[in-house]
Amino acid sequence: MARRGNLFILAAPSGAGKSSLISALLKDKPADMQVSVSTTTRAMRPGEENGVHYHFVDVDQFKNLIQQGAFFEYAEVFGNFYGTSKITIEQTLEKGIDVFLDIDWQGARQVKALIPDAIGVYILPPSKVELERRLRGRGQDSDEVIASRMAEAISEMSHFDEFDYVIVNQDFDTALADLQAIVCCQRHRLARQVEAHSVMLEDLLAQ
Ligand code: 5GP
Repeated sequence: MARRGNLFILAAPSGAGKSSLISALLKDKPADMQVSVSTTTRAMRPGEENGVHYHFVDVDQFKNLIQQGAFFEYAEVFGNFYGTSKITIEQTLEKGIDVFLDIDWQGARQVKALIPDAIGVYILPPSKVELERRLRGRGQDSDEVIASRMAEAISEMSHFDEFDYVIVNQDFDTALADLQAIVCCQRHRLARQVEAHSVMLEDLLAQ
């Protein structure tokens, strides 16, 4: 019997390096790992592709999806709606594929309530100075925009203690190794191994 996939929740303030860590983790397109593509009402950014980075919809379409019960979780994050498709998550986990949710703390809370053995990982920047440097490094934003993004980041980070694991992303390669280690630990938990190797275990333990 194939094992059910693990569900990982990754959260972080903007600028902590979450997207880069997820991309690096899935760089070689492992068959047993998948990142969930969320649905959002926010405007598409340059370089983004519909169906790849997000499924982009308008507010009416999003509200219809809520009414249809299409979301596993959803939240309003700084003025835009974001949601995770229920059917996609269920089907992917059922196939034994580990799913990575790149969501905010509100979504993480909903997922934990539904699936208590989902693994929450919070990614923090090493300092406020470094966070601001990373936010500024992204573009030509005004001081006012940067100040508001810093305030949003602090609000998001205040929920870090609701997660199972915390990674401080000071050095990217170290943070990636930490994330890989967390995934590896979860896969080796007793219950997961019993599920994954039921036939082998039966054979090994038969007298
Ligand atoms: P961005 O607009 O920068 O891509 O994402 C803004 C925030 O929304 C990030 O913290 C991201 O993790 C979060 N987010 C993205 N997709 C979802 C989702 O499906 N559900 C929830 N709750 N948050 C999401």
